[in-house]
Amino acid sequence: AKGISVVRNPGHNKGLAFTLRERQLLGIHGLLPPSVLTQDEQVYVVMQNFYRWDNDLDRYIYIIGLQDRNEKLFYRVVTENVELMMPIIYTPTVGLACQKYGLIYRKPRNFLDFYCWKDGERILGLGDLGSYGMGIPVGKLSLYTACAGVQPHQCLPVTLDVGTNNEALLKDPLYIGLRQKRITGPEYDDFIDEFMRAVVQKYGQNTLVQFEDFGNHNAFRFLDKYKGLYCTFNDDIQGTASVTLAGLIASTRVTGKSLCQGTYLFQGAGEAAIGIASLLVMAMEEEGVSTEDAHSRIWMVDSRGLLVKNRPKGGISPQKVPFAREHAPVDTLEEAINILKPTCIIGVAAIPGAFTEQIIRNMAKFNERPVIFSLSNPTSKAECTAEQAYTLTEGRCVFASGSPFKSVQLNGKTFHPGQGNNAYIFPGVALGVILCGVRHINNAIFLKSAQPYQFEPEGTLQDEDDSDESSKKALGELGTLIAVYALASMVTKENLDEGRLYPPLSKICDVSNKIAIKIAEYTYANKMASHYPEPEDKEQFITSQLYSTDYESFVPDVYDWPDVKGQL
Ligand code: NAP
Ligand code: MN
Repeated sequence: AKGISVVRNPGHNKGLAFTLRERQLLGIHGLLPPSVLTQDEQVYVVMQNFYRWDNDLDRYIYIIGLQDRNEKLFYRVVTENVELMMPIIYTPTVGLACQKYGLIYRKPRNFLDFYCWKDGERILGLGDLGSYGMGIPVGKLSLYTACAGVQPHQCLPVTLDVGTNNEALLKDPLYIGLRQKRITGPEYDDFIDEFMRAVVQKYGQNTLVQFEDFGNHNAFRFLDKYKGLYCTFNDDIQGTASVTLAGLIASTRVTGKSLCQGTYLFQGAGEAAIGIASLLVMAMEEEGVSTEDAHSRIWMVDSRGLLVKNRPKGGISPQKVPFAREHAPVDTLEEAINILKPTCIIGVAAIPGAFTEQIIRNMAKFNERPVIFSLSNPTSKAECTAEQAYTLTEGRCVFASGSPFKSVQLNGKTFHPGQGNNAYIFPGVALGVILCGVRHINNAIFLKSAQPYQFEPEGTLQDEDDSDESSKKALGELGTLIAVYALASMVTKENLDEGRLYPPLSKICDVSNKIAIKIAEYTYANKMASHYPEPEDKEQFITSQLYSTDYESFVPDVYDWPDVKGQL
């Protein structure tokens, strides 16, 4: 039948929602059962199927199957049920799906302006999954559409398979990737260079390339290397930093203390910790304190204990140097907390249970409103659960987590833990950047997270070029925090009273929209947008470009030539 390609194309297929007339016009009438459903009715059918499964991996497989069959319906369902669907199509279930990707892989996706890509070296907190990491960019890109309305055909998930060092996968007969150890060194770098060049050659300089789940050593290196050359950002560093900082800003409204009045102790000094801390420094500077004073409020514990200068155990990589403090060595997190009495602890080391009962109790002893962020993903890696945090602090803590936790009942009060989900940030940033044709994201829209600090007294990291330096000043620090402030400003008093540091996930599309509008206003005002003519009404412009889950009609508008006889 002539319409069969329409039915087989997930971008066009409507399932039983094809009208009788469309079925006849497309020649697919006899292929479908006679019943015609509305999209509303289809949503109901999907949800019935969704609930029928008794585990989340099956729900993931079912819902991703829908995406491959009927894209509009998939996005309608996900957008309307973000809170329910997010943990399925993204963390934590997607992590599980990645581990079993060999069983799940169905067919290649054909999609394109925008890429999310990765090399699978570290998925969430799960380590090297090689090609099985493909589930992450697939899931992430669906969030760009579901949470911000980015057009799905503008997105392409890419995994660069450079091998895996995961012995179990290399021996697994079902493993779908290259059976070789990861390539490293110049060969690896050249491959990435070639990929970046190929992307802009094929899709244009404005193509936004999101780096995802690169191993720590490569993530910082590539962000630094490419941020001035391509339109790119690293969600693990920059997205995490933004969403966490927004939560910290919201927490100041609960604690009554400004950011620079806090003392922050990070458990972990990796991509997430360095990214968050760097942005936090900038936000404290916004409050008017010096860079040195801002740094003096931040401490980190890594696998070798408290990050202090000249520690005997060493292990201070370049990006850690600015956060290494003058202090005697301290071996454990617990000791560090007792010595430093932080107002806020942030767990990003993927060490499950690292916030022990004693640690949480001590935080409640030192602070009227202790701020506890248990950010490691997936849920099994969390530093503590929401329930532990609330009960051990008698409900006084301000809590946020990386993976979702159910609400907690305590002494007749219900606490809704905030989820510091990067999805509050990256879809909105991408939407604004894509629509305005922004060529560089670094320094301007996001943050300078991996940027080495020129004030570092040891002067080990002064390889910044001057042009970068001047653009940073010209654009102003505020520009770097647009997304953060937009998100933080959307947290209401009611949200805070319920324990939330973020708007409910059901409001995520509004958040993305606001971020995109702010980015549009900022980038046009600062001559960074390349989409011309400049839209007069930025809000109207952004809104008019959003993906719609309404079905398209296959019945063409038909008309006759007007009667021109009289004019001849
Ligand atoms: P990463 O770059 O690999 O960093 C991990 C850090 O943890 C390293 O600094 C490591 O120390 C440290 N560490 C390891 N074992 C430790 C121990 N026993 N005690 C103290 N520190 C230890 O990873 P990442 O990207 O920062 O991510 C870390 C975690 O944060 C993951 O679970 C991830 O899922 C989570 N995360 C959450 C969000 C979110 O909630 N929105 C976003 C991003 C990441 P060394 O430096 O000494 O090796
Ligand atoms: Mn990631």
